[in-house]
Amino acid sequence: MANIFYENDVNRSAIADRKVAVLGYGSQGHAHALNLKESGVDVCVGLRDGSGSVAKASEAGLTVKSLADASAWADVIMVLLPDTEQASVYEEQIAPNLEAGDALAFAHGFNIRFDLITPPDDVDVIMVAPKGPGHLVRRTYVEGGGVPCLIAVEQDATGGATELALAYAAGLGGARAGVIETTFTEECETDLFGEQVVLCGGVTELVRSAFDTLVDAGYQPEICYFECLHELKLIVDLMYEQGIGGMRFSVSDTAEYGDLSRGPRVIDDHVRETMKTILDEIQSGAFAAEWVAESRSGRENFNRLEAAGHEHRIEKVGSDLRDMMPWINAGRVSVQEASGGQG
Ligand code: NAD
Ligand code: MG
Repeated sequence: MANIFYENDVNRSAIADRKVAVLGYGSQGHAHALNLKESGVDVCVGLRDGSGSVAKASEAGLTVKSLADASAWADVIMVLLPDTEQASVYEEQIAPNLEAGDALAFAHGFNIRFDLITPPDDVDVIMVAPKGPGHLVRRTYVEGGGVPCLIAVEQDATGGATELALAYAAGLGGARAGVIETTFTEECETDLFGEQVVLCGGVTELVRSAFDTLVDAGYQPEICYFECLHELKLIVDLMYEQGIGGMRFSVSDTAEYGDLSRGPRVIDDHVRETMKTILDEIQSGAFAAEWVAESRSGRENFNRLEAAGHEHRIEKVGSDLRDMMPWINAGRVSVQEASGGQG
């Protein structure tokens, strides 16, 4: 069983004495900067010159500096830029401003695990990875809760790296929910696998395949949307609150028998073999190499696949149905707003 840290295990002075630069003001960046500030930490935000986020971060009451100036000012540098952009920003703006005893921090192990960034020996290298999207990291903190965090230490130059990572996680609100120690390798590999096989890749393809099967069989698309996508939230909420057993207790016996007898036929040995192959591609570095090359060469595949996703008929049906249920996404950031608003 994992060792889990809570508020009482945290030495807050490990971060109270430090100056923290949060580089980037996207999904994670805005949440880290605002939560840390409200937890009493001395924080500034580092952004590209001309970034559209300068105004947003300033309006939120945060000090904004250039990436290089923020890195020079701080002794804890949290890199919250897209994984594919971190290495070049590290070379140009961060590395020249690193001093012995500084801490270089990440929210995902990608660049360290796959050797895209190699920090000098005299700095701490830590990870604080909230197990949830940035907007939830912010919202749950404001509500008095927190998102569970993983912490890891790749390099402990000062001898205080673990204490610092734990105090940083507590500043995000993570110690209210629980902080678990891991390694860059374990976090990175399990995170990539989870998003590819279950959370993003597995679930989107499961939903679309089931929707297509029903629509092609002649059922009304609106019914198929409610059945295969909308209701998923209700089931996932039950699993989130009570586990798989609790969900099975709440659904009808007919639904439960269908689950028990048909589930293993959908996710069969062939699917499990594919999962193992996908894990092998992550562990070997093949996925990371593919993604970095794709991103550096202009993201042609990424853009084509994303556009094809938007064209799928489930998106049109879903958009029309959700327009009739405005309470569903009340107060949430829309796709249109989000894609224009994080520069
Ligand atoms: P994001 O895309 O939401 O935000 C990235 C920020 O970097 C934006 O402010 C953007 O303007 C800026 N930026 C983009 N390219 C840049 C460049 N070349 N130079 C300087 N600034 C640039 O990113 P994110 O989703 O917050 O991810 C940041 C890190 O957090 C990643 O390592 C990611 O894996 C990790 N993470 C993200 C989530 C999440 O909820 N999205 C969850 C856990 C961990
Ligand atoms: Mg993840």
